[in-house]
Amino acid sequence: MRAVAVFPKTKQVRVIDQPHPPPVTGNQVLLRILEVGICGTDREIGAFHYGTPPAGSDHLILGHEALAEVVETGPEVTAVRKGELVVPTVRRPCPHRHCEPCRAHRQDFCVTVDFAERGIKEAHGFLQEYVVEEDEYLVPVHRKLAEVAVLTEPLSIAAKAAEQGAAIQQRLPWERRRVRGLVLGAGPVGLLGALSMAVRHLDVFVYSLEPATDVRAKIAHDLGATYVSGSEVPLGAFAQKIGAMDLIYEAVGISGVGFDALGALAANGLLVFTGVPAPGKPRLVDTDTMMRGLVLKNQLVFGTVNASRSAFETALSELEQGMFLFPEGVRSLITERHPIDEVPALIAARSGIKHVVHLADASRS
Ligand code: BGC
Repeated sequence: MRAVAVFPKTKQVRVIDQPHPPPVTGNQVLLRILEVGICGTDREIGAFHYGTPPAGSDHLILGHEALAEVVETGPEVTAVRKGELVVPTVRRPCPHRHCEPCRAHRQDFCVTVDFAERGIKEAHGFLQEYVVEEDEYLVPVHRKLAEVAVLTEPLSIAAKAAEQGAAIQQRLPWERRRVRGLVLGAGPVGLLGALSMAVRHLDVFVYSLEPATDVRAKIAHDLGATYVSGSEVPLGAFAQKIGAMDLIYEAVGISGVGFDALGALAANGLLVFTGVPAPGKPRLVDTDTMMRGLVLKNQLVFGTVNASRSAFETALSELEQGMFLFPEGVRSLITERHPIDEVPALIAARSGIKHVVHLADASRS
């Protein structure tokens, strides 16, 4: 069967031939992979800046945004049934006894950094025709969502941020009128962040460099958000021209832009970082203004990495609501579907919003 792998030592990205997995045992599940999304992390791994093969392997099979169908279940599987559609989670717990989050199945909060991530760090990913996975890492998906369910994993970033944000804002013990949310960046993570805010009925703004005529602006609009172009409103003038925001969701991965967004944050507001910036030159920042603002306005800045099982479940509910409220907007996030042999070229290029590798059709049932 075919798979797509990166070979960091020889700097190659290739379609390889893999043996079919052996029969499943215990709580293992054999999955037929239907679709896999490609994201910025895959591109960084494909450029050999990131990503680690499993111990003893010279290659890493890519793919962490997947939709699959259950083909076989081991005798101890209880969480999923043969024929069901599922989305696998990405992060696997570290082995250390003292890591309380991992022992509590919250490896998204792992304290040792010895976790594995499928398709990213020390575990093969889902860009292969068949995969074996343990049932506890599979989240069932309703067939009606099959068309867009490959977006669940990137949407779980926003879902986890929303869970964390809601827990943090319990510190504000009054009824809040309509919350204003700003998304920085109109890539897939940003637009999915807008979707997540829109289905929770925030007043949503998307801020990005592209002009207001760009397709990203149209998708933001189709998802119920107001698009603000960086070519018309500098980030420094955002609060003055549009208004201060209660929640800012950073999805650009550029630390300078992320911290500059503090100027657009309202009193008692939250600024959440989701991007993982590449190391760059140190920058000078005005820490006095920042600290004064944070203290006098009770503001909070936090980072979040996906994702727990609950965030995947929340993401699926948000997709479902999105398909009810803004079906065209949600569908248009997937700009192209490709066969597996196009992946090496696809990883090297950059265009469109979300590229998806289509490996197989769901069986009828
Ligand atoms: C994935 C996360 C992962 C992160 C860092 C993201 O693309 O969605 O699951 O934790 O990369 O490796």
